[in-house]
Amino acid sequence: MKKFLRNPLTVVGCVLFGGLVLLALLAPVLPLADPNETHLRDRLLPPGSDGFLLGTDTLGRDILSRLVWGTRISLAVAAAATLIAAFVGSLIGLCAGFFRGWVDTVLMRGIDMVLAFPYLILALAIVAVLGPGLLNALIAIAVVNIPFFARSVRGTALSVSAMPFVEAARIGGQPRLRILFAGVFPNVLPVIVIAMSTTLGWMILETAGLSFLGLGAQPPQADLGSMLADGRKVMLVHPHVGLLPGVCILILVIGINLIGDGLRDWLDPRLEGGAHSAPGAATRVEAAERTDAASTESGALVDVRGLKVAFGEGPEAVTAVDGVSFALRPGECLGIVGESGSGKSVTAMALARLVASPPGRVTAGSIHIGGVDVLSASEETLRGIRGARVGYVFQNPFDSLHPLIPVGRQLAEAVRAHGRGNLSAAEVRKRVTDLLDQVGIPDSGKALRACPHQFSGGQCQRIAIAMALANEPAVLVADEPTTALDVTVQKRVLDLLGRIRRERGLAMVFISHDLGVVRAVADTVIVMRRGEVVESGAVEDVLRKPRHAYTRRLIASIPRLGAGPDQDLGLADEDKTEGAS
Ligand code: ADP
Ligand code: MG
Repeated sequence: MKKFLRNPLTVVGCVLFGGLVLLALLAPVLPLADPNETHLRDRLLPPGSDGFLLGTDTLGRDILSRLVWGTRISLAVAAAATLIAAFVGSLIGLCAGFFRGWVDTVLMRGIDMVLAFPYLILALAIVAVLGPGLLNALIAIAVVNIPFFARSVRGTALSVSAMPFVEAARIGGQPRLRILFAGVFPNVLPVIVIAMSTTLGWMILETAGLSFLGLGAQPPQADLGSMLADGRKVMLVHPHVGLLPGVCILILVIGINLIGDGLRDWLDPRLEGGAHSAPGAATRVEAAERTDAASTESGALVDVRGLKVAFGEGPEAVTAVDGVSFALRPGECLGIVGESGSGKSVTAMALARLVASPPGRVTAGSIHIGGVDVLSASEETLRGIRGARVGYVFQNPFDSLHPLIPVGRQLAEAVRAHGRGNLSAAEVRKRVTDLLDQVGIPDSGKALRACPHQFSGGQCQRIAIAMALANEPAVLVADEPTTALDVTVQKRVLDLLGRIRRERGLAMVFISHDLGVVRAVADTVIVMRRGEVVESGAVEDVLRKPRHAYTRRLIASIPRLGAGPDQDLGLADEDKTEGAS
């Protein structure tokens, strides 16, 4: 509940909508005049008149009383129509998405037929056939909204049905209906609830629309739409008669939509933590030590001291990086190893203050790159560092490339991004072709015009590397660049990185969970576990004389030809005390 009400707009929605619903529910017990009683001598009284708080309408009926009763009717009709449409539509969508095949074809073509008619015309046609009246209006708007639910639920049901846990239940021989209602339905429920919350507002407008046209509530019964129609006749001389029901509709619909937005945020855990504040351009820094450049290790290009990065606030906060220090000289390669979740990526992102904030924040330490104090740098300075002084290569190359833009244009964009905006098109093209040649993409002229899906994973990673090198950075951060690739491609990408490093004297931070890979590329290594550095030093030293039990376990997991599975590295006792990892 607290989470739901965290957004102030949701609270406003709840107050607006809840207030009107409460009034509508209490209508029979409130001391209201009879909404249909006419007072022909007191017609069209303005609001605030004696005995008529909000005035009277064209027949001298009490507007306040009619508004409360009218809201009650409009709400009841809209809610009932929403429930019917949600129930029928979701059932159709669930069955179509789950059973697929001919069930899907028959159901969805039926839905397509309903969709083939313009929305409101279809509702009007249904009422025309059934005859005017509230009940028929309800049926009409329920029917025209069924496709909306059927379509969105089908899409979700289709993707949920393809998930491994559903396949497993199928193979396990569970009854199909049980899988449908116990496995698929709960996963689709949030979609239905969100769709209902947005539809309710629509339904109120539609009910009002049909009544406004005289097809819904019949006189003397009041609903918001028919009151609006009454007011229209005297709009210019007595605007309050039409404005008051209009305002009522407005408040209802705004209230419902605000609640719907809150509901969506609440049901979608991904929005948690940063839901209502987009991440800033740079990681927030709290209480970092302001060491000046002079005190950094002499000759170091990258100098990180006691870096701490935390996520979240208060009791839920987790420290992902806890006091990491290292220094990197030009031409050097630092390996960072550790199991997944040990804080390697967060360390790498923090170097250029790229950790999303909120929820991330730097809580201690200092970072210097080429003498610039990164933690106190302005956004402008950071932009000059990112991509220009520090290049990044990530694990999944397809994530770093836009799927629809030819790679040539993406590379050109990277080239132009940093002070090379004045290069001519031919110069940029030459530079891009050179980059592709350097990373060993054959036939670079043709490759320029191809999109990422036309390359293999290994080639895409080469293109991502080319992009990272576009502005001749001094530091290259490679975050598990080969983890998504198969071993032979991995070998070639590693060779490529090694060659580029030697040729350009690049400093490199190479992250991997595989100590064997790090051994092949890095000079020094730090071993991370749960955010802390448990070991550091030259790669060969660490491999030969591991001091920490965790490092020994990592070393033991490097496969060695000819060695049996029972290498005695003191693992047995470690596992007893620390638990197998
Ligand atoms: P890895 O070593 O596998 O690269 P990461 O550096 O990505 O691990 O993550 C380290 C820890 O930081 C994880 O255990 C995770 O709990 C935490 N973490 C990372 N990103 C977030 C985030 N956006 N919100 C909260 N916690 C995060
Ligand atoms: Mg990672």
